[in-house]
Amino acid sequence: MKTHRDNPFFDLFSKQKSNQYKVGKTTYKERIKKLSLLQTAIEKTYRKAIQEALFEDLGKPQVESEMTEIYQIIGDIKFVKKHLRQWMQKQRVSTPMSMLGSSSYYVYESKGVCLIISPWNFPFNLTFGPLISAIAAGNTAIIKPSEMTPRSSSLMKTIVESVFNEDEVALIEGEVEVATALLALPFNHIFFTGSPQVGKIVMEAAAKNLASVTLELGGKSPTVVDKTSNLELAAKRIVWGKFLNSGQICVSPDYVLIDAEIKDEFIEHCKKWIKTYYGETPETSDSYGKIVTKKHFKRLNSYLEDAREKGAKVEIGGQDNETQKYIAPTILTELKEDSKVLKEEIFGPLLPIVTYKTLEEAIEYINSKERPLALYIYSKSKKNIEKIISNTRAGGTCINNSIVHYANHNLPFGGINNSGIGKSHGFHGFKAFSNERAIVKQSRFGITELLFPPYTKAKEKMARFTIKWF
Ligand code: NAD
Repeated sequence: MKTHRDNPFFDLFSKQKSNQYKVGKTTYKERIKKLSLLQTAIEKTYRKAIQEALFEDLGKPQVESEMTEIYQIIGDIKFVKKHLRQWMQKQRVSTPMSMLGSSSYYVYESKGVCLIISPWNFPFNLTFGPLISAIAAGNTAIIKPSEMTPRSSSLMKTIVESVFNEDEVALIEGEVEVATALLALPFNHIFFTGSPQVGKIVMEAAAKNLASVTLELGGKSPTVVDKTSNLELAAKRIVWGKFLNSGQICVSPDYVLIDAEIKDEFIEHCKKWIKTYYGETPETSDSYGKIVTKKHFKRLNSYLEDAREKGAKVEIGGQDNETQKYIAPTILTELKEDSKVLKEEIFGPLLPIVTYKTLEEAIEYINSKERPLALYIYSKSKKNIEKIISNTRAGGTCINNSIVHYANHNLPFGGINNSGIGKSHGFHGFKAFSNERAIVKQSRFGITELLFPPYTKAKEKMARFTIKWF
């Protein structure tokens, strides 16, 4: 049987393992110093290079690179710097009377050596985001970014190597084989961002070493639009959220569930906003990105073809260009339930619209699918909003907007079941990478000692009496 020693990354892993307690003992000031170095690298030294890499890998417009990658990372670091001292403090808790003579508290201590596997759609944000939490919590980390965005991954390696020693943070580029080899090592925590299918592989590998996991996954995020909503505003925000990064966002509104009576009016508003944002020919727009790889282009194309073959109506869009990896912002209606766009996570610029007659029907439709990462509600009715929230489950929800819940560092971010396990961002990210160690400190006197053996009738009576204090 192969041992960990045969693993190509064993030496690197061992170096981090030996260094883990030293890193774990660092003060908040030392951790903040490291985060500041990372901040300078991203904000100053490599800012232009990051924009260029994102343009090459994903055709990302500069404003989007700033808004969804650089700003997010810098915002994360600033938030941690502001709160880390408080997060790292001993958390005192009260102690029951039955434990008289002792005091209790817990500490957030580092987990140890962590593995971070990241996807390609926001390569910098989704790699450095978890890394910031791992550093804040005092861990060492090995990172495996996506092979789909090679320029970005290679630049991230340069950045990591310019800031950290490899016994603290290291980045390894590579494909599935690299991820598989890393997953075989006994990490203390694995933070994975990617698809639910690969999430299951990661969790299975983690189980072999009983490593804890945070799984940030995806799936189909529904968007409900009811009769009371401001349709023009709803269309404005749904079209923005859907076609940002060409729909390649885990919390992108995957499909719209709309009251049948307002469907046509809503579609007219959507068409207007698509033209306002991207012009008559989005292919030439500087504000619209491309599909990451030919493989994903073909996947999306096959969804479109499948919908067309099954009689769907293309309300707007439908054009593509394989050489440019371009797919137009597309809205589809009159879909058959077995269409791929209604079964698979879309992760691209296709927006299917499904109608409902009653809110109960909409809720039933949502609950017939896997639990989503995000659920969006466009409504002015408090009653309807409450009804949808209390009768469904989702990682997060925005009311009358799309995606923005992601940007608030005070909120936990993550899914539920098929869309993920565990939470990230801000304090929740710090917690994901920390072990909450419970500590009880006993003084010279300990009431429980009165109940130590040998057991007598008197002690039996006392035990019954003590129970009342719990
Ligand atoms: P993916 O699951 O294909 O790949 C993610 C990472 O896992 C990559 O680094 C890849 O190399 C690695 N990987 C792929 N196959 C593997 C295997 N068999 N064993 C081990 N590692 C493997 O996902 P993707 O295509 O990069 O990203 C798209 C998916 O990620 C979508 O489902 C999307 O919803 C989800 N996502 C979720 C979030 C979130 O925060 N919840 C963010 C972005 C993307």
